[in-house]
Amino acid sequence: MNGNGAPPRVGDVTTTSASGAAARTRLERGRGALGPALELVHTGRAPTRAVLTAELGVTRATAGAVAAELEALGLIRVDSRPGGAGGTGGAQGRPSHRLSVAEDGPVALAAQVHSDGFRAALVGLGGRIVATAPGKVTVSADPAQVLGAVVEAGAALLEQSGRLCVGAGLAVPSAVAEPDGTALNPLHLAWPAGSPVRAIFAECVKAAGIDGPALTGNDVNLAALAEHRHGAGRSAQHLLCVATGHRGVGGALVLDGRLHSGSSGLALEVGHLTVNPEGRACHCGSRGCLDVEADPLAFLTAAGRSPGPEVSLLQQARDLLRDEPAEPAVRAATQELIDRLGLGLAGLVNILNPDRIILGGLHRELLHADPERLRAVVADRSLWGRSGGVPILPCTLDHNSLVGAAELAWQPVLDDPLGALA
Ligand SMILES: [Zn+2]
Repeated sequence: MNGNGAPPRVGDVTTTSASGAAARTRLERGRGALGPALELVHTGRAPTRAVLTAELGVTRATAGAVAAELEALGLIRVDSRPGGAGGTGGAQGRPSHRLSVAEDGPVALAAQVHSDGFRAALVGLGGRIVATAPGKVTVSADPAQVLGAVVEAGAALLEQSGRLCVGAGLAVPSAVAEPDGTALNPLHLAWPAGSPVRAIFAECVKAAGIDGPALTGNDVNLAALAEHRHGAGRSAQHLLCVATGHRGVGGALVLDGRLHSGSSGLALEVGHLTVNPEGRACHCGSRGCLDVEADPLAFLTAAGRSPGPEVSLLQQARDLLRDEPAEPAVRAATQELIDRLGLGLAGLVNILNPDRIILGGLHRELLHADPERLRAVVADRSLWGRSGGVPILPCTLDHNSLVGAAELAWQPVLDDPLGALA
């Protein structure tokens, strides 16, 4: 703490004297710590200033200045008088200041398009969903029409909230090629392959008068990113995520905190692993892919049900599994899908050697229905699964693809809070 008791402002670099130069160096160092500090609070890894100090490896004064600057930017809240239960011990045994994301701080506009419609949301720091607006549409073959509608829904939420917006992110059920931002295989949407979704989304966001970056990613990639930062994937080093959407199956790998997206954004197309060589024809041109053998439609079909149009296929599959788990046809379908999923996971375990697997969409419910069976199939069919036993856990976040889409928009703020918000 400096002489007058107030922490130095990290962004204040107007001093000119020799001692001022030293202060400037310290403050510039402090500025470099703003992003890492924000990420620690954002991901819940620094609940107190004492933990922040230790995690950043800086002095208490610097940590105090950094926390104060983030609070001045409206991003976090510093509670200097945490209640009795709160806080871990400070230097004199006093409870340390508690840190949390600002409850009325800025938000990111998040959007998700899937085979049954779209959803727009506002997501604050900490992966907190502030507001959502679902929309059911017959997803138009024209991406501009769908993205225009979802951005419009998001803009209405923004207007109601009156919050500052840092940017927008979009999750789509397709591989998104880098650096072009094109949706290469929107197989369960009627969109043309290669649609320039990022450019269209950016245009819609700009037209709605929303400032900041507008970014796009694959829905399962974004779900994995969100789970790594806020959910079941926290602290995993080699996190494998496999999930169904409303249709189809996707995968993602988060390596040391970063999405592994391959040389051009197309890695981890796990949906097209063959798990049943004699199985159904797949839209990719192959046969018996995980995508058509272990998704909600495959489950409903295996259970002898004809899906109706009222709610999404994912919801119908979940309802059936929850409401009639003991019905013989449902039980047989559950086992069949678990075996196919397990076969796919076993191959991935051999190749990727993950330290954790998380399952989303219908796969989460299949794990819940019979965790022993799924773990046994993965262990029996994989070298590393047999020797080590990779933990297989359910995803824990609601709307993880939306939260992940928001992470895209939050990233520039996490990288340089002062630069992004100035
Ligand atoms: Zn396929």
